[in-house]
Amino acid sequence: MVVTERCVGCATCMLVCPKDAIRVEGRAEINRELCEECRKCMLYCPLEAISYVTPELTQKS
Ligand code: SF4
Ligand code: SF4
Repeated sequence: MVVTERCVGCATCMLVCPKDAIRVEGRAEINRELCEECRKCMLYCPLEAISYVTPELTQKS
């Protein structure tokens, strides 16, 4: 899961995350070790600021 610059820090995603994997400090940050990629945050974000990216894609630096 990737948070884009559209995020305004409303914290909706943090409240819906079942794994408590999101912290919001200005912008949302997802803890990849806790995240189980349920995509709930993506569905609930009012600004569509979260996108789904496969682990293979996120591993490239
Ligand atoms: S719900 Fe969307 S806009 Fe709100 S903090 Fe999460 S990613 Fe940012
Ligand atoms: S995909 Fe699910 S577990 Fe991962 S951060 Fe979003 S709501 Fe939480």
